[in-house]
Amino acid sequence: MTAYEPVIGLEIHIQLATRTKMFCGCELSFGESPNTRTCPVCLGLPGALPVANARAIHFGLMIGMAVGSELAPRSIFHRKNYFYPDLPKGYQISQYDEPLCLGGRLADVRIHRVHLEEDAAKLVHVGASGRIHASDASIVDFNRGGTPLAEIVTEPDLRSAEQAGEWLRLLRTTMRQLGVSDVNMEEGSLRCDANISVRPAGTTELGTKTELKNMNSFRFIERGIRAEIARQEAILESGGRVAQETLHYDPRPNAHPPITSLRSKEEAHDYRYFPEPDLVPVAVGQEMLDAARAAMGELPAARAERFEHTIGLSPDSARQLAFRAELGDYFEQALAAQVDPPPPPQALANWIAVDLLARLRDGEGTGGDPNLSRVTPAAMAALCGLAAAKRVSVGAARQVLDRLVAAGGDPVAIVQEEGLAALDGGDDLAAVVAAALAANADAAERVKTGNAKAIGPIVGYVMRETKGRADGGEVTRLVNEQLGI
Ligand code: ADP
Ligand code: MG
Ligand code: ZN
Repeated sequence: MTAYEPVIGLEIHIQLATRTKMFCGCELSFGESPNTRTCPVCLGLPGALPVANARAIHFGLMIGMAVGSELAPRSIFHRKNYFYPDLPKGYQISQYDEPLCLGGRLADVRIHRVHLEEDAAKLVHVGASGRIHASDASIVDFNRGGTPLAEIVTEPDLRSAEQAGEWLRLLRTTMRQLGVSDVNMEEGSLRCDANISVRPAGTTELGTKTELKNMNSFRFIERGIRAEIARQEAILESGGRVAQETLHYDPRPNAHPPITSLRSKEEAHDYRYFPEPDLVPVAVGQEMLDAARAAMGELPAARAERFEHTIGLSPDSARQLAFRAELGDYFEQALAAQVDPPPPPQALANWIAVDLLARLRDGEGTGGDPNLSRVTPAAMAALCGLAAAKRVSVGAARQVLDRLVAAGGDPVAIVQEEGLAALDGGDDLAAVVAAALAANADAAERVKTGNAKAIGPIVGYVMRETKGRADGGEVTRLVNEQLGI
């Protein structure tokens, strides 16, 4: 078996949250009756003239700034010619060799370019029953036609399905924070094509790539990429060659095969690009750059830096919280809560990202978002403060968290109600430790003669007796003290 290294580059389409369409004054559509948001421009009627949407260009510049692109002082639109019923003009207005933003980087992935274009209309395939069906008739809803899109193209810098999924989440968070798009995959305002190849591990030449089209959830993207990597590896392993083609991934578990070809390289379109003669070039002046810069808040990458260097989190925790804005927001609210004793930031980050998230994952309808849970940031901070100050043991704090997740409430009150306050190092705990040593004489003897691991049953006894309220470190200290170590 040869070891293979996957290589992945992404092409992402983001619907921009402008009020009106890319080249006309029609308002964007959110489920209005079909064909009610149209005009001669977005219907492609002869003689209609497009005008570029300044707000879309503003958003494009913000995206370029967020990923550190070179912003072109002058860029132009091209016509990308092809026939399809969802494209009434017979061409899409897009950018070609002079895009708005060139190069850049988001985290460890280089950006090739960012450009602006218009969305196509929506085809709906309808059966005679009136249900959506493949397909007695196809009807067109032009409401979506002309919606502004930013297309972001990465360099082939991703190396696994999981890394692609994780990076795409960072991109989504970044776009959401910029406020340039709803970036909702289910609703199609964030769409992703994955370009995938594999090569023998240790080599540098790129293998032949395939393009997996339009996957509409993070889960399916990761699964689709994984399936395509496996398919390519199997081809190479059996001495075959990967064909350059455009593929469709069917995420249904009974899909055989899950990956099918849409078209091969030979069938690839020649789009006969040429400059759009009805639009003037986009000339970006200082005023537009200033406006874009002023509209940008703190981005996830900068937030991760601040979490790490100002708040003092580990790099991993900082990224984990900052790259998922809902976690970062929750963490910052908890950190700002007035609780006594205050939680140490790293401990708080761990309680949120590990203990709380694990409990929400199976939880009802939070989708892993602590802001939608019953645990308020202040309650999380108070609990973490108690645990860090050893006023409750870790085991007891986890029990309290279980209750908070189930029913909400105030950790201090729960600790009192349930008698979960930690036994401190006073006489009570010392007496329990003495009883534990007496009941585990063999283990005590082994600890005394240097076998530190033998302490397990002794600590277990104390925890049972105290219902988990004793602090593990304090128990160990008392055991050693009483054994004269
Ligand atoms: P095309 O001309 O087929 O559209 P591009 O060079 O424009 O190809 O690249 C499109 C996308 O494919 C980019 O995201 C790029 O990073 C990625 N890509 C290019 N070559 C490869 C490869 N060999 N393996 C994986 N991804 C690739
Ligand atoms: Mg391309
Ligand atoms: Zn219109």
